[in-house]
Amino acid sequence: MSRRRTPLAALAVACLTLVVPATAHADTYSPGSAGLGDPYFPHAGNGGYDVEHYDLKLRFNPKTDVLSGTATITATATKNLSRFNLDFSGLTVRKVEVNGKKATFRRKGQELTVTPAAGPADEAKFTVSVQYDGKPKPVNDPELGVTGWIHTKDGATALGEPDGARTWFPVNDNPKDKATFAYTVSVPVGLTVLANGEPRNTGIVRVRNGWSSVKWEMREPMAPYLAMVAIGKFKVTQGTAAGVPNITAYDPVLAKTSKYLHRTTAKATEWGVKHFGPYPFSSTGGIADKVDVGYALETQGRPVYDGDVSDDLLIVHELAHQWFGNSVGPQTWRDIWLNEGFATYAEWLYEETHNGPTAKQTFAKLYKSKGEFWQLKTGNPGRNGMFDWEAVYQRGAMTLQALRQKIGDETFFELLPAWTEKHRHGTANTRDFIDLAEEMSGLDLDPLFNAWLYKAAKPKL
Ligand SMILES: [Zn+2]
Repeated sequence: MSRRRTPLAALAVACLTLVVPATAHADTYSPGSAGLGDPYFPHAGNGGYDVEHYDLKLRFNPKTDVLSGTATITATATKNLSRFNLDFSGLTVRKVEVNGKKATFRRKGQELTVTPAAGPADEAKFTVSVQYDGKPKPVNDPELGVTGWIHTKDGATALGEPDGARTWFPVNDNPKDKATFAYTVSVPVGLTVLANGEPRNTGIVRVRNGWSSVKWEMREPMAPYLAMVAIGKFKVTQGTAAGVPNITAYDPVLAKTSKYLHRTTAKATEWGVKHFGPYPFSSTGGIADKVDVGYALETQGRPVYDGDVSDDLLIVHELAHQWFGNSVGPQTWRDIWLNEGFATYAEWLYEETHNGPTAKQTFAKLYKSKGEFWQLKTGNPGRNGMFDWEAVYQRGAMTLQALRQKIGDETFFELLPAWTEKHRHGTANTRDFIDLAEEMSGLDLDPLFNAWLYKAAKPKL
């Protein structure tokens, strides 16, 4: 995400051998938990299963604001489940089926609790399908802003960071549970639909009774908060960049400020490959739309920019997230600096490699400034501070520059692609990063990271 204001030690597990009668828990089914214990969003995500795939069939009428959908979720149980939860807010649930059989459900807050006729056994693959409809309401968090299904003048755009996905589909909304996504979206003829990944039926859009339907697919694992659909009037440009399709689009009212979006996206994608390693997804792109949320979001494979996209560094930032945040995802929201500090550092590096100030100069300038950098812990900024521009974005980037100065350019520029390779399409935490940096540099880096990430004070140089 980008908002513009101004430019353990390894857990030692003792191995206990318990003597339990063989029949004791083979038949025991119990509920999955209603949350995954994220330190900032404890209710987000659910226990007892792991999602592999979301198949979302959506129909949206911008005139009435009504969204109707069927979400079919393929998951694997991680225990014998008597019932389980999904995150889902607003919208009316009409029917829930598990493995094709009617299931009962109840709702409370953001929890949709599903009780199947017969619960899935540990390690069993199962499908849950949810039919729903209604007028989606975005999440309006006083500290974090507006996310979710957002109505626009000519359609809607869905943006989910950190917990807006539940406003438009039932979801295991936790960054740890990545899955592939397929979308079939029906809209009134004349409107364009964009989403993550690649279109699956270019040229054979189905049209019936004034509605057209389009398929998109994200084939690489994706955290639900990065799921995106954009519906409206768009001018779409297709090309290639870094060996993958580059699909960009802008709302015609933004034509003036979007004229370089396609070209800059290609340039920034190719530049990223040089510094961060192979591009992680099977397409790149970007969408400029009038969403009125005041931020851009790195939705996987195709970021969404709100309004003006004439700043190259904004595009560089969101595309850098494809490596840092999207492919290598945070295990919990506490590690948000692994997304934002890195994407901000990418901006500094882009400037350095394009005749701008060096990252060292940018660092020096910020180090002297009297911002609020030093009042929050970058590695644990708190829920309400997770998108703090100074503490998380800039001090996060400063942390990387401090590391670069400590371990030297050669090791630093091997570390970035090593990091994206090691955790490609997975998730990681800050400790994993420190461990890799220590392994590659041969240095004890705990003092440096402690000072930069875990102290609400200005680190000494
Ligand atoms: Zn960002």
